Amino acid sequence: MLELRPHHILDIVRNVGNGRAIAPHEYGHNLHLVTESIVANVDQPCALVGRNDDICGPCAMLSADRSCRDVLRQLAEPVSKQDYNDALDRRIFCYLSLEPGAVLSVRAFLELARADIDGIVRICTHPKEDPESRKRGLILGMAKLGILASDAPP
Ligand code: SF4
Repeated sequence: MLELRPHHILDIVRNVGNGRAIAPHEYGHNLHLVTESIVANVDQPCALVGRNDDICGPCAMLSADRSCRDVLRQLAEPVSKQDYNDALDRRIFCYLSLEPGAVLSVRAFLELARADIDGIVRICTHPKEDPESRKRGLILGMAKLGILASDAPP
């Protein structure tokens, strides 16, 4: 069963919607493999976790203590990606009234997010990311995965 940070699922759906290539990353993490798995079966169960996950497994930035040593450099004051991700996923758990460790299908998680896409965009848009691009990607990605009608306005 997949173990994923909730924001990683939302990033994947945005990428799918925006047509981003599914390819290995220079860090060596599993984003491309998990993306392929979700596209192939959005009904598979997933444990939602507030820590580093199945995407991080082989990542060059994952330390021996399983913390992320990467840094978000797009902010005026660079921020630890571990701290940023932990805070972001806490916001998502709280917003969707979920607890870390909850097991549900990827589809069920996305249906919760679908209920308030504007709110999800507000709390999930990364620094320097265009919120409209994130919203468009989420809507188109959910349509591709059968979570939203394909004629939903982006
Ligand atoms: S959160 Fe950190 S360890 Fe996980 S995939 Fe991203 S850069 Fe790698």
